[in-house]
Amino acid sequence: CMPFRTAFPLRSASGTASLPDDHEDTLRGRLSRAGARGEFRLHYQPRIDIDTGRIVSAEALLRWQQPDGSLVAPDDFIPEAEETGLIRSIGAWVLEAACRDCRRWQQIGLAGLPVSVNVSAVQFRWGDLESVVEGALLGSGLDPALLEIELTESRALEDSDTGGQIARIAATGVRVAIDDFGKGYSNLARLGELDIQTLKIDRFFLHNIEEDDKGLALLEAIVGLTRRLGLEAVAEGVETPAAAARLAMIGCSRAQGYLWSKPLPPREFEHFALAWEPLGAMDMPKKRAGR
Ligand code: C2E
Ligand code: MG
Ligand code: MG
Ligand code: MG
Repeated sequence: CMPFRTAFPLRSASGTASLPDDHEDTLRGRLSRAGARGEFRLHYQPRIDIDTGRIVSAEALLRWQQPDGSLVAPDDFIPEAEETGLIRSIGAWVLEAACRDCRRWQQIGLAGLPVSVNVSAVQFRWGDLESVVEGALLGSGLDPALLEIELTESRALEDSDTGGQIARIAATGVRVAIDDFGKGYSNLARLGELDIQTLKIDRFFLHNIEEDDKGLALLEAIVGLTRRLGLEAVAEGVETPAAAARLAMIGCSRAQGYLWSKPLPPREFEHFALAWEPLGAMDMPKKRAGR
């Protein structure tokens, strides 16, 4: 089932000629007002330690709520937000909201549960990401050690400026993860230089690891590389108990996926996390199937 629909075409086929003067109905126009109208939502997906069965953190995933209540997925509006620069204010809101929610978790019985926030490479372009992160931490009172930012692997990681910003953010105690690792642009030489703590292995590598020996070999190599670099490997997109078992076998014990939970609205996530009992990895999915 597809939980989201695409509410807008990303670009009009005829270019700009037919856009109305006030841009009222364009994606750009609506997106530029969405923040002020309070239309953004964060959903949270738990990250599980397969060995202990515990929830070890949660990833904030952005949704855009429409007047009819439907939710637009980030892939359908983040690119436009990046092109227009709107990602700057949207990204700041995401960091503030995620830090606020995580601070709340500390007080309602989920002490020690960190939050992970996706940050666009474009957000580095303005050079003020450090102060945006710092502002979100100060505004919420969240311990920097409980925040991780996820940066999708891209050419931007090659900029020494980006590397410097990552290092300064990491120096404040905030963790930095490389997202979607192995799928797109991989500069392995650069990987050893960046001040990062986590590699999130793209869910592409989870495809067919049950039957496909080559796929499993690639996954094992990435997990091995991650360990040798002293980083933590996290597998994305785990959908089956067999995939989780394979991951545990090759030493990748951190994972996210529909097997455990979809991203949930904040209150639902809190209830889910509070009710969660670390029963042992392989039992959990079946025992929880009724949820
Ligand atoms: P991502 O950070 O790699 O997030 C993982 C995506 O996979 C999410 O899609 C999540 O809902 C989905 N997913 C989780 N488990 C499974 C699974 O078991 N199977 C499958 N098929 N999918 C799974 P989502 O929420 O649509 O987000 C898509 C992308 O949008 C994210 O990829 C991230 O790159 C970007 N994004 C999301 N929120 C933000 C944000 O606040 N800021 C920025 N800049 N980008 C964001
Ligand atoms: Mg991510
Ligand atoms: Mg991504
Ligand atoms: Mg990813």
